[in-house]
Formats: sequence, structure tokens, C-alpha cells
Amino acid sequence: MKPELDRSYPDAMDTWPVAKLRRDQLHKLRRVLKHAHRGLSFYRERYDKAKIEADAVRNFEDFARLPTFTKRDVLDAIREKKSFRTGMESGAGTDMGVLCMTSGTLGTSFLYLPRRWAEIRGNSLARAYWWAGLRPGMRMLMAAPAWHSLAVQETRVIHRLGVTCVVPWGTFLPRHAGSFLAAITEVKPDFVSIFLPMLYALLAECRRRNLRPADAFQSVQNVLVVGAPMTPLSRAKLREDLGVKDLFEGLGNPEGLTAMECSHHRGHHIFIDCCYVEIIDPGSGAPLAAGKRGNVIVTSLIPHGSVYIRYDTEDLGEILPGLCPCGKTWPLLEVYDRRANAVEVARKEIFPYDVRLCLDKVPELIHIPFALLRGRRAAEVLKLKVQQPMGGGALEILENQLKAQIKETLGLEARIEWTEELPERWKGVAVIDEDNGGRARV
Ligand SMILES: [Zn+2]
Repeated sequence: MKPELDRSYPDAMDTWPVAKLRRDQLHKLRRVLKHAHRGLSFYRERYDKAKIEADAVRNFEDFARLPTFTKRDVLDAIREKKSFRTGMESGAGTDMGVLCMTSGTLGTSFLYLPRRWAEIRGNSLARAYWWAGLRPGMRMLMAAPAWHSLAVQETRVIHRLGVTCVVPWGTFLPRHAGSFLAAITEVKPDFVSIFLPMLYALLAECRRRNLRPADAFQSVQNVLVVGAPMTPLSRAKLREDLGVKDLFEGLGNPEGLTAMECSHHRGHHIFIDCCYVEIIDPGSGAPLAAGKRGNVIVTSLIPHGSVYIRYDTEDLGEILPGLCPCGKTWPLLEVYDRRANAVEVARKEIFPYDVRLCLDKVPELIHIPFALLRGRRAAEVLKLKVQQPMGGGALEILENQLKAQIKETLGLEARIEWTEELPERWKGVAVIDEDNGGRARV
């Protein structure tokens, strides 16, 4: 396949001065806003009701006063209109495009993605894969989430970078780990793009087959993972176990967010060519400065297909202060979890990511799945279900070490319940609602 690269990465945009980046973003924000106000009924109705003129938005502060909306609003619009068309789709009915699903904890909606959208977003994503070490001529194994907008963009990435693509049999559900492992050992890819929980399922499959993961991944130089946050210690252990040069974590959502780690792994550089990200206080809606955790608000800067403007992802995240040592000027974002996964313990809001950091400090518990238990009422003690490590030694010692880490890091007492196996879910760590028949949230 002939690569379509007409420019080399990284190009100058990676290191544009911050003032120039901000100017470019503001220009694109105003463009998309005008487009939405004139052509998209979802926004026109909202902005007219709030007496907002798109032309009156002159700076980021004005923009931050526009109303946000959530998945619930999108689902309500679908229900009202009895159609996937919520009035956010630019060009629907005239341009050829695909419909993709946005599923998950908050419900399922649909995105309309025309060819122009796929080109722009795919070209942008090619940069992310380039950062992760994918080069023309390489062989990439990927678990294509065919229902997800990522699959539409990855198709473009493959053409643009001129790589050969290998898609193993099966979806990225852990039960297909066997065919993924067979493909990796037989096809010997240079690069693997994979869903993080599936990577853990591959490691478990290696253990079952008595195969060293580093032997299975012998041909692989770099791995790009998506779908769940990796903690610094779990990354280091994964890299060691797999014997690869590096592991990169990509971050995104179908509504518009793309963010990607560089080799310094200090957070995820926001792809400022395609999206604008704000962090707000979930209570007051006020913008939060870098270094403060809040709700992640995303605006797509592409005026094609489904256009999301000030979409509240209901994810907990923060913009990290300071510049990255890599020299790229694109702001750094960290996303910790869905807000719905918060558990209140002793008047503190605890997320699975916070607890994962504690587990990682006990070497035997790195990579070991766990779940937080949440009762109807706020608890005084943090309750956990943790999968017993294979050949895990004395559980009592591990339990005491974990409790000590939780006390030191989170200032909480913990009650730990060891379990043979947590259900193999397809979205990594989870919160189990005890009053919900013990069903796990995914
Ligand atoms: Zn960087």
C-alpha cells in the first residue's frame, strides 16, 4: 500500500507557540459555533431560548458562558424526535456517511460521520499513531471496534501512514483473547493497537498457556492502548512483562475528544486541531484552572457530521499544569473515570483510579482486577472485592499491605473481600452496587 503521507510528523503545529494555538482554537470555535447556530436546530433552539447570539462570542470567556449539555439531553432529543437525528448533524441526508453508536454507562446514541469528517479526524489521528511509533510499512494488529467512530478514523490512519493491518477473529471481548494471541504469535506484528482490558485478558491467556508474554510479543515494538486509564506503575509492569519499547495510552470519545500521550507519559496532549477541552465545576458550571479536577467538557472543532459543542462528558478529569518536557505545546489532559463511578466513603469522593494506585503499590496486586462496592448509603469504610492473585502467597499479608496503602494514600479504612474471579467485563474496573443485586456497572 502506498503511503499517502504528504507531510512528515511531527510538523510545526506540534510546537506552535501557545498564543498562536489559542488564536487558532478561538477561530475554529467561532466558526463551528456560527455554523451550528445557523444550520443545526439542536443548538439554534437552545441558544435562541437563552438569547445567545453566536456572533457575540468573541473570546474563550464568552464561549464558557454557553450552555453545556449531557448524554441525557441527546437521548431525550432522540426520544422526542423518534429519530437518531437530533438536529446536531451537519450535512445529513446530502453527504454519504456512516452512523456509529456511542454506547456505555449513560445509554446509546448515534453519530453521523460523513466522509469529510473521517478524512479530517483520521488525518489528525495519524499524528497520534505516529507519536506512538507507527511508521509506514509496519504491520499493525488491531482490535477493530467496528461500531465505534475510532474504526472509521483508523481506516484513514492505515491508508495515510501506509501500514498493513491485521484484524484477528473475534471482537475485543476477553473471551476472544485466544485468537488474538494466535494472531500475534503467527503474524508477528510490529505494532499493536488494543483495548486495555483486552491486553490484560491476553496476559491471562499467556499465563494459562504457560507462555511468557515477552515471547508472544517478541515482534512488537510499541503498543497503543485505549479504553481505561493505566497508572504509572501498571504501565511500567506491562512494558516489562511484554518486553516492548513503549506503551502509549490514547484517550478519546466519539463526540469529539482526541488526546494522546507522548513518550514522556505526563498526561495526554489534547489534539487542538480537532477539539477544545474545558474543565468545569460540576456543581456551579464555573471553569476550573489547570490542576483542578472537574467535569470534562468537549467541543468538536470539525463542522461536519454530528457536531458537539460544550458537551459535558460526565468524566472526571483535569488539565495538567505546566508544559511537557517533550516540547509539544498542546495542553495535557488526564481523565480518571466516569463521574458515575464515584463512591462516597467517609465524606470523600473515591474513584476506582484512586484505589488502583493503592493496589499497584503492592507488587503482587499490579494488574489484579478489583471492584469497589457501593451501598445505598455513604459508607465509612472502603469496601473492595479483589481477585486472588494466581499463586498469590499469603492473602493475609497482602491484605494488610493493601489496607496500609489505602490508609496512607486515601486516609481510609478498608474491608477487603477476596474472590476467585471477578466477572470478565469488557470495560475494566468497575463499581458494584450492592443494592442492585450485586450487578456491576460497566
Ligand atoms: Zn509531551
